[in-house]
Amino acid sequence: MKAIQVKQVGGPEAMELVGLPVPEPRASEAVVKLAASGVNFIDVYNREGRYKVALPFVLGQEGAGTVTAVGADVKSVKPGDRVAWASVLGSYAEYAAVPAERLVPVPAGVTDEQAAATMLQGMTAHYLSHDTFPLKRGQTALVHAAAGGVGLLLTQMAHNIGAHVIATVSTEEKAKLAREAGADEIILYTQQDFETETKRLTAGKGVDVVYDSVGKTTFEKGLNVLRPRGMMVLYGGSSGAVPPFDLIALSQKGSLFVTRPTLGYYTLTREELLARSGAVFGMIGAGKLKLRIEHTYPLAQAQKAHRELEGRKTTGKLLLIP
Ligand code: NDP
Repeated sequence: MKAIQVKQVGGPEAMELVGLPVPEPRASEAVVKLAASGVNFIDVYNREGRYKVALPFVLGQEGAGTVTAVGADVKSVKPGDRVAWASVLGSYAEYAAVPAERLVPVPAGVTDEQAAATMLQGMTAHYLSHDTFPLKRGQTALVHAAAGGVGLLLTQMAHNIGAHVIATVSTEEKAKLAREAGADEIILYTQQDFETETKRLTAGKGVDVVYDSVGKTTFEKGLNVLRPRGMMVLYGGSSGAVPPFDLIALSQKGSLFVTRPTLGYYTLTREELLARSGAVFGMIGAGKLKLRIEHTYPLAQAQKAHRELEGRKTTGKLLLIP
């Protein structure tokens, strides 16, 4: 089968199209023939070695497709079932062996491509807005990179809850998309100082929560726009990792909270995984959550997909089609 493998960590060129044997399922696994694999920023971190993975490895942590084989202990799925998953490595390939307990059923009415576009970014947007800082109607959230993959979904969910959303984006085109997703205010943070603008937009009161996936270039100023006892939810570092900082700043800036959440810890049990994926699929089915699949690339063009994602050229979701 075709797969995108990383033998040495590095830039996009570290991704190599290789031929590998179709995996055999272990006792607790199912083998899935992929219809689509999601591209996510975490794939960049894995590829460049920011997150350590034993080499060589097949990249990708999100996919959807059809079960072709199951291990001896697997009862929850059978060949022919349509399934999707996130947070298990190896999806940039024609086939992947996945622990059966991490697979969720794809409901009728949701296509394989939609499912592959939902699992990682959709469940992330869901836990951020419903669990990490459960937004309430009337609260104000600052959402960074609001036209990105997670950003567009998080903006829609926050809007649907009834929160007031202040969105940051880098271009006018992205501003339009964030507005369509429900953002009430837009800050072009490459041209305007988002700290000054957010303070102005909240009449100096500050926001209840900052959802920050940008990290290095936004974190510190983000702390300055929180209301007293507000929460900084740092969930990524697209601009780089946040350097170590002195916790005393949290007291001085208003008894603030900071958390650094990860999807894996918000889908820890099978019950939580099924409930969360089911909730997001339900929003799609009900027409309350619109997916923006911006581009699909053949597997062989994984390098191009990464260059565009890292180059801030993309909006919404990128998929690889094996
Ligand atoms: P995005 O589609 O959001 O792409 C990244 C965006 O970040 C860019 O489009 C860009 O938007 C913005 N950005 C700002 N500065 C930079 C920079 N220097 N280089 C590149 N991009 C920059 O990606 P994803 O939706 O896949 O992921 C978003 C973030 O969420 C990532 O940091 C990812 O690691 C994190 N994440 C975390 C999860 C968790 O559970 N903790 C799960 C899923 C994702 P603009 O041009 O508008 O500035």
